[in-house]
Amino acid sequence: MAVLRAQLGRHPRAVIGVAARCVCGNPAVVKTKPRLDDGTPFPTLYYLTHPDAVGAVSTLEAIGTMRAMQDRLAEDPELAASYRAAHESYLAERALLGEVPEITGISAGGMPDRVKCLHVLVAHALAAGPGVNPLGDEALELIAPSWSIDRCNCAVLDV
Ligand SMILES: [Zn+2]
Repeated sequence: MAVLRAQLGRHPRAVIGVAARCVCGNPAVVKTKPRLDDGTPFPTLYYLTHPDAVGAVSTLEAIGTMRAMQDRLAEDPELAASYRAAHESYLAERALLGEVPEITGISAGGMPDRVKCLHVLVAHALAAGPGVNPLGDEALELIAPSWSIDRCNCAVLDV
């Protein structure tokens, strides 16, 4: 929790576990409760915490990657189908933590037919492993030159 606080610069909310770790052991993705302690529904099951990963993904977003991916969803039925399957998988994983009626059928990141947040898709890809979220996998490949979960370049955190 101390490392998460240092990574996020605030107290992490509704964390129930670490869903993916850097090879050094630092958290990269946390799993969160579908309802915050104050009762607010929280659809984002997997949250990217690693500052270098967050930064690399933000750079991808800034250069228009989401727009291009969303355009491809409209043109590539196979990609669209696997992205929809990622959405269903996300919902099924979250349902294991309890039903939250306000967000039934709502996943995150724009799934199943839009691309709104690559941080969410990358967090899902890291938590689920390769082959579950096609656009998350793709974003991970694109950021690999600057960040990869199997190649520790973590800053020493003051925790
Ligand atoms: Zn590391």
